[in-house]
Amino acid sequence: MISVNFAFEPHPSPVPANERAARLVDPGFGRVFTDHMAILHYSEGRGWHDGRIGERVPLTMDPASSVLHYAQEIFEGLKAYRLEDGGLALFRPEANARRFNASARRMAMPELPEALFLESCERLVQTERDWMPSVEGGSLYLRPFMIASEAFLGVKPSAEYLYMVLASSVGAYWKGGARAVSLWVSHEYTRAAPGGTGAAKCGGNYATSLVAQQEAIRRGFDQVVFLDAAERRWIEELGGMNIFFVFEDGSLQTPPLTGTILPGITRDSILQLARDEGLVVREEPYAIEQWRADAASGRLVESFACGTAAVVTPIGRAAGPDYEFTIGSGATGQLTARFLDRLSAVQRGRAPDPHGWLRRI
Ligand code: PMP
Repeated sequence: MISVNFAFEPHPSPVPANERAARLVDPGFGRVFTDHMAILHYSEGRGWHDGRIGERVPLTMDPASSVLHYAQEIFEGLKAYRLEDGGLALFRPEANARRFNASARRMAMPELPEALFLESCERLVQTERDWMPSVEGGSLYLRPFMIASEAFLGVKPSAEYLYMVLASSVGAYWKGGARAVSLWVSHEYTRAAPGGTGAAKCGGNYATSLVAQQEAIRRGFDQVVFLDAAERRWIEELGGMNIFFVFEDGSLQTPPLTGTILPGITRDSILQLARDEGLVVREEPYAIEQWRADAASGRLVESFACGTAAVVTPIGRAAGPDYEFTIGSGATGQLTARFLDRLSAVQRGRAPDPHGWLRRI
């Protein structure tokens, strides 16, 4: 494929095949990087220019670059999968391109034409196809991001930006299959407020979630779940995953997209799969007291978290400062397992793709 937007400059000394194979045996998540990266520059007046897929190298930045001071930064996360027939495909990259631009608008950054986002991802995967792990559950995780690169200490939107894409070989998120996780409900820290940046995928959201996640770990839980900032009552999402509730009548519920949670692409895919199956789904607020009461009464039978990295993660129990409750049997629920299975099957080309979610490369 000939590209006008991204010049290709092959790495002069890529990681040798035997070394690459060794790194792909047990890649984990987010530590094994490929040889190349995509980079594209933006300047006010000139727009996007000088795109390149080339050697993955450290950045040289002016220490006054505004991203380092005012955190004008956004990112995305999506995966390329090896399909059953041996081909490669990205899962719903158009949705990531749209969300990237929604994040850009919220952070007063320039939008990136969707075609450039898609081309950068596709060409990087093409270039790095040998870095696709063959381990069960493996994939190539892509990290597109944009940073404000103007050297200026005034507080204003930067006049220059860098857009880049990294690729990382990743294994199954949970080794040995999905294990039910435990959640700490944070009544102290919130992640996002009305009018804030909760719906944008900006680095700052993750920086502010870390202390809450640290607290969850310190208390012996796997993950934190946040409540809304206004009433500290409505369940929002985890630090990096959306949340679903499953009821004994077979219906599903997930918090609505009111601007304070990230509109997850996995969330949207599960809503679609559930509707395809004829299940009743509600995008409605769910209160923490209700979650506790419904888990106790048996009206709530399952809960799960979802996101690109782990796809679907069962939730076994949850706790707050003066309460703790188990969900269902505390193990992976039936519908949770089915959604993980069905979504993974589409992603890996083992099931029909009626919504055109796979973009073959
Ligand atoms: N919420 C947050 C805060 C996230 O960071 C993510 C991961 N992008 C998600 C939800 C899930 O989104 P997706 O399904 O698009 O990965």
